Amino acid sequence: MATDRPLAFHDGSCTRCGATEGLVRLSEFGKAYCRDCFPDAFQRRVLSTLRRYEMLRKGHHHIGVALSGGKDSAALLHALWSLRWRLNLRLSALHIHLGLGEYSDLSLRAATDLTSRLGVPLIVERVADHGVHIEPVGTFAQCSVCGAVRRALMDRAGLREGWEAVATGHTLDDWLQQMLKRLLTGRLDAPKPVLPGDAFHPRKLKPLSLMPDDACREYTAIADLPHVETPCVHFSPDTHRLKQVFALLESLAPSSKTQLVNTLMKAMKAPPPGGPDRPCPECGQPTGTDVCPLCRLKRVQTPPEGQA
Ligand code: AMP
Ligand code: ZN
Repeated sequence: MATDRPLAFHDGSCTRCGATEGLVRLSEFGKAYCRDCFPDAFQRRVLSTLRRYEMLRKGHHHIGVALSGGKDSAALLHALWSLRWRLNLRLSALHIHLGLGEYSDLSLRAATDLTSRLGVPLIVERVADHGVHIEPVGTFAQCSVCGAVRRALMDRAGLREGWEAVATGHTLDDWLQQMLKRLLTGRLDAPKPVLPGDAFHPRKLKPLSLMPDDACREYTAIADLPHVETPCVHFSPDTHRLKQVFALLESLAPSSKTQLVNTLMKAMKAPPPGGPDRPCPECGQPTGTDVCPLCRLKRVQTPPEGQA
């Protein structure tokens, strides 16, 4: 039975400077911060996540940040940019223009505004330049087609640009939801905050793996980062409904999201190794299936000869 009584997990002042006005209270942080001190706490959490999961190797790093135009990846890019001297980071950003009308144009605008403010080079990949558009295919919903195309373009851009890794803005809530979805379908392999990469895939990092969605929202607002608020027109709230489970749990037992992720990481197994990729017979890009996702889409969307 839920309780309306707020749980006291910190006192009424900023843990760093003692300010009492405009506090950011996130139970996942276990402490309150004022708006001036919160960005530093956010960046320190990103730093400790990078270290904890050994996301960066020694030396110099050129990281490509996958910048969707939404709040999470905007916060990620800004936090890494703030840490760039300390971590010896060189940053680029990658935006994939999905060709989904006004939403895509606004997302590209947000990515352009943010990267030009920070002086970070932006690479734009347009789905349309690959001769396809995003739509449902057979039993695959629009969002799964979109996800497959995004992953394929991210891999291609990451390898082509020679980045040491591609970083995405997946959050703690995304991670927990992904774990729960796997558990509910009988899978015991844990999604990982770092994917090692191979000859065909760049390394992938999720430096916000311990950062709740709400923290990204606060950070983006405080740092006034350009981003798109409205979701994609095809966004289905159903896709994210399991996040409510963790929101309720966190409200009943502060810090439980972080504890749960730690326990599940110990209890779940490593993912099985993926099958070896081979060149797509149509475009030569690596694929784990018969043809790569882009060529599969092209096959469906190209009318047979004589019917164009
Ligand atoms: P989502 O699957 O929409 O929750 O996105 C997860 C992460 O993937 C984002 O935080 C970004 O890092 C990346 N991403 C999603 N969409 C795009 C896009 N259109 N361009 C570049 N990166 C993206
Ligand atoms: Zn192909």
